[in-house]
Amino acid sequence: MIGRPKKKYREIWRPICIETENETIEPLKNIPVLCPDCQSAEVGTFGTHKRQNGRIECFQCKNSECSHLEFHKTARQFRLSTSWCFMTSLNSMLGKMTKEIMQGKVSQSAIAEKYEVSDALIVFIRTKLEKTLDLWYGLDHLMLVPTADTAVAGDETFIKINGISFYIIMFTGHTTHKVLGISVSKTRSEADIRQVFDEADQNTKVPIRVITTDAWGATQAMAKNLNRRITLVIHKHKKPYDKAVIWEIEYEDTLRKITKIGVKCDFFERRAKREYYYMVDEENLISPIPKKRRRPKGVKNGQGKSRKKMKPKKKRGRKGIFAHFNRGKRGYAKIDPFRKTLRLVKDVSPAVAAAFGETKDLFWRKSISNNLAENINSVVETRVHLTGPKSPEGLEKRLRAFLLIRNNPEILDFLPVAHRFQPQILFNEWKRSGMRLLFEFSKNYTNNEKMEVLVN
Ligand SMILES: [Zn+2]
Repeated sequence: MIGRPKKKYREIWRPICIETENETIEPLKNIPVLCPDCQSAEVGTFGTHKRQNGRIECFQCKNSECSHLEFHKTARQFRLSTSWCFMTSLNSMLGKMTKEIMQGKVSQSAIAEKYEVSDALIVFIRTKLEKTLDLWYGLDHLMLVPTADTAVAGDETFIKINGISFYIIMFTGHTTHKVLGISVSKTRSEADIRQVFDEADQNTKVPIRVITTDAWGATQAMAKNLNRRITLVIHKHKKPYDKAVIWEIEYEDTLRKITKIGVKCDFFERRAKREYYYMVDEENLISPIPKKRRRPKGVKNGQGKSRKKMKPKKKRGRKGIFAHFNRGKRGYAKIDPFRKTLRLVKDVSPAVAAAFGETKDLFWRKSISNNLAENINSVVETRVHLTGPKSPEGLEKRLRAFLLIRNNPEILDFLPVAHRFQPQILFNEWKRSGMRLLFEFSKNYTNNEKMEVLVN
């Protein structure tokens, strides 16, 4: 038996119309009606659907190889506003919008205003993006490929959200400016900071050799207890602002040697002979056996107390990290930041030379400061919508999603996020564009093909 001859379908074209402010309806452009699943033009009309303001035309895909038929018994039905051209344009809008949300160059409410959508919709899309990122890449990875950084800047900012206080602890690579480790917590103990440093250390090709930081004690303790050679640059937030300290921490068997070098912050800024101060602290990592705490023989309650008072007070020098400016040895260095040379004058300890060797390239013509970390903090605070999540975990997820995109912007091109906008969003975009003006000029010359608004 021979079947009916296959019906030939001609391409269907329909005008996109726009309702202007004075409620006149103008055709904007004819577009082909294509199947949203297979992009085929083999499409037939399929009656109308009732809508609030009139009836709307329906179509059906007639392509026998349509991908829709793999999972469905009946052919794909759609309207002009769900046809392929429309869907593609709407998806490109989503792409544009997600880029703007995740790049954080403008605030969330500015994006909402631009696209004439609600703030809530932007939050909704952001949450969707975060979930997809977590699913596809895992938010515990900030880098897809390790970076070439050997120096990191560490910082802990204190932020208050909805009345709850958090610390955001971050380590940022000096070379790439990428955030290599982050954590949100209610404390900023040595362990909290170590956890973030370890994450950063995993995200670099070679182990980190230099840490720049403010003078938070837990960071110093963390650097010491890494138990490996490290250079620590400390820049103080409190007075005196003009001084910085470089610690070269090294080990000899069970001995930890810290060469502490004090410099002015503008040490690397200009061509000059500059002075520095240094001293060496040594610490045996095997602690001496503690004295027995029992009462000495023949001494009863109260008898030993007076002896304790007699002990002369131990003389101590000025406390704090800047002590060696007063007590340390003085040395000189000839700096030329334009040629990027640093020459140390006379017999110099190898640790001092090593410390300058590691740090000089970070600061040529710059003041020694923690600007890198501070800049990123302000980006995070103003550009990531932080008021949503209330727990440290939720907050950390939001920041991690933002940083994952910031570190690896290529992800955005492949992120499988779907959202169906109302077609109206395309018209909002059109209204903003110069095309509208062009259209209004040309409207005076042509006045054909006026049809009802097909978009709803
Ligand atoms: Zn199809």
